[in-house]
Amino acid sequence: MSVLQAVEIHHTFGTTEVLKGVSLQLNPGEVVALTGPSGSGKSTLLHLLAGLERPTQGQVMWGGSQVSTLRGAPLDRLRNQHIGLVFQQHYLLSDLTVLHNALVPSWIQARHDQEEALELLARVGLAHRLQHYPSQLSGGERQRVALVRAVLNRPSVILADEPTGNLDQHNTQEVMRLLLELARERGSGVLLVTHDQPLAEKADRILRLLDGALVS
Ligand code: ADP
Ligand code: MG
Repeated sequence: MSVLQAVEIHHTFGTTEVLKGVSLQLNPGEVVALTGPSGSGKSTLLHLLAGLERPTQGQVMWGGSQVSTLRGAPLDRLRNQHIGLVFQQHYLLSDLTVLHNALVPSWIQARHDQEEALELLARVGLAHRLQHYPSQLSGGERQRVALVRAVLNRPSVILADEPTGNLDQHNTQEVMRLLLELARERGSGVLLVTHDQPLAEKADRILRLLDGALVS
């Protein structure tokens, strides 16, 4: 069974149809790159796949669950089980330390994975930063915290929207290496939005969005 599925998604902002019947699926552990010009609807699609917004038409499935039947706390709980999110901006909470930011998704589920968070933070080179705050970190360090937060619950799917868009070449390589390594180890599938063609070519499959429709 696919870990993520979109069936005939349409999405309209005002009178503009931004997504025009997008269907896709992601298999367990698969890495898929989503490319396409700016404004083609990539971020909108990722928001819908993450259940952060509802499509005007069509369905999103996480494993066997139909996302549109849920809202509020049950939706958040299911998202935390299934989906890890990494955005271009890190969205860390400014008044929480590195360690506590990494633990945010497990708080919601009242789990106690402090040890695992510590181990992952060490893996991404942040063992010496645990008690720092996001404002004290570099861009690459913040994105590595966001990465740990995204993989901590072993989600079946990681949705990443240009996760290295704000980083220099060195940090881009490092964050991508860690993202793919952690996802593979933990069995998470990845849908990665990227403009970076060499990066896209490392994926198992490339999807191309053009003016709200998939063309590949
Ligand atoms: P991409 O990520 O591929 O650059 P987006 O999904 O961000 O594309 O945007 C697709 C289109 O939808 C663009 O024309 C954008 O202006 C429009 N759009 C995105 N979000 C909104 C919104 N919240 N309200 C109105 N229009 C939006
Ligand atoms: Mg975008």
